[in-house]
Amino acid sequence: MDRIGKAEMVRVAVATLGCKVNQCESAGIAEALVARGLTLVSCDEIADAYIINTCTVTGRTDYQSRQLIRRAIRKNPAAAVLVTGCYAQRAPEEIAKIPGVRFITGNTEKENIPDIICEMMVGAPRILVGNIRDQKKISRLGATVFPEHTRAFLKIQDGCDAFCSYCIVPHARGASRSLPLEEVLERITSITRAGYREVVLTGIHLGAWGRDLQPRADLVALIRQIADRHTAERIRLSSIEPRELNTELIALIGASKTVCRHLHIPLQSGDDGILSAMHRDYNAAFFRNLVWNLTSAVPRIAVGIDLMAGFPGETEEAFANTLRLVEEIPVAYLQVFPYSRRPGTPAATMAGQIPEPEKKRRAEQLRAVGAMKRQKFAEKFIGTPLSVLIEGRTDKKTGFPVGFSDNYIPVAVRGDGATANQIVRVMPEAFREGRLLAEVIHE
Ligand code: SF4
Repeated sequence: MDRIGKAEMVRVAVATLGCKVNQCESAGIAEALVARGLTLVSCDEIADAYIINTCTVTGRTDYQSRQLIRRAIRKNPAAAVLVTGCYAQRAPEEIAKIPGVRFITGNTEKENIPDIICEMMVGAPRILVGNIRDQKKISRLGATVFPEHTRAFLKIQDGCDAFCSYCIVPHARGASRSLPLEEVLERITSITRAGYREVVLTGIHLGAWGRDLQPRADLVALIRQIADRHTAERIRLSSIEPRELNTELIALIGASKTVCRHLHIPLQSGDDGILSAMHRDYNAAFFRNLVWNLTSAVPRIAVGIDLMAGFPGETEEAFANTLRLVEEIPVAYLQVFPYSRRPGTPAATMAGQIPEPEKKRRAEQLRAVGAMKRQKFAEKFIGTPLSVLIEGRTDKKTGFPVGFSDNYIPVAVRGDGATANQIVRVMPEAFREGRLLAEVIHE
C-alpha cells in the first residue's frame, strides 16, 4: 500500500454488467475492499482504481463492457483500471489492447482482486486469466450487504455443463460447481442478520446445484433445510431450466411459505426444430405442459420466460410457432433478446443467420406480447391481497413507496407501514403504467 499512500485515501469504484451472479461477486469485491480500509466511490466520480466486472453473453454486452472501461479511463486517465468477469475470461487479449487498462483477471481470479488492487497502481497491463474449465471449486466471492438493493443475492452455484449451441457462458464460467449446503445456510443466516427479508438464490445453472457435492444434493433438499431451520423469511429462485422443475420441486414451492411464488424459466423458442438446433433438452409440448402444471399446482405463481428472437434458421413459420406458444400459455412476463452471434459457439457458424433488422423486428413483436401479458397477469390481482416487500424508492407519478409482491408484480403502495424493508399486506386497486396501485391493509 506504500505506493498509493494510506488505504483509506484510496478511492475505488466498481462497475458491473450482466447477471445476478456477477452482481453478487461485485458486492463481495466491494465488501472486501471496504474491509481492507479502501473507500468506495461511484463510477461517476474520480477514483484511483476502477474495477469493471464485465459480461459476454451477447455482442452488445461486450460493447457495453468496452464502453464502461473507456468511460472509466476517460474519467481519470491516471487511475488503475482492472477488468474482470466473463468478457475478460473469454477475450483477455482484446481487452488488453484498450490503452489505459492495467490488469485483467478471469472469473476464477476474481477472488484475488481485493489483494491485486492494492498492488496494481503502476505498471504495464497484466493478464491473469486461467483455464476456467479446469476449475473444480466455486469461488466464495459474495457479500452480506447490498447497498443499492432491498433484497440480498446469494450465489450458490457457478458454471454450466449444458453447452447450448448459442451460449458462450460455459466457456466464461467453467463447469458447474456448488456452494456446500452448510455454507449456503450459514451465508443466509449472515444475510438475514444484516437485516434482509428476502434472499435471491442465484446461479448460472441453478437447477444443477448439488450435483457435484459429496454427498450429492439437490434444490429440493436445500429449500427444505432453509425452511426447516428458518434461516430466511423469503427466498426467491433466480432463473431455472425447464427440465429441472420436477414434480417434487413444484409441490414444494406450492406448499412452502418461504419460497416466493415466482419462477423465471428460459424457453428461448416455441419451435421444436429450433429448440433442437439450440441443443435445448425439451420441446414445445413439454414446456406447454410444464407451465400449465405449474400454474395449477401453485396458485398465484408468476412464471417469467426468456425468449431468443432470430436464432439461425428461424423461419417465419418457426417464429410463428414461438408466438403461438407464448400467446397460449399463462405466463406473467417475457424477457426477449435478439440472437447474438458469439464466436466459438456452434450457432455462430450455422447456416441461415437472420439479418439484424429482422431479429430486432421479431424481438419487438415478442416484447409487445410481453407487455400485454404483464398487464393481464397484474390485473388478475386487483381486489386480491398481496404481500409486498417495500424498497427504498418511490413511484415518480404518485410519490408512493414501491416494492415487489412475492409473485413479482411491481406495486406502488399507499398507507401506514409502507416503509423500506417492510413486508406489508396490500389490496391492489388499479393497474397504471406498469405497476399495481395498492393500499396497505391490516388483516
Ligand atoms: S443452460 Fe444453456 S443457456 Fe444457460 S448458461 Fe448453460 S449453456 Fe448457457
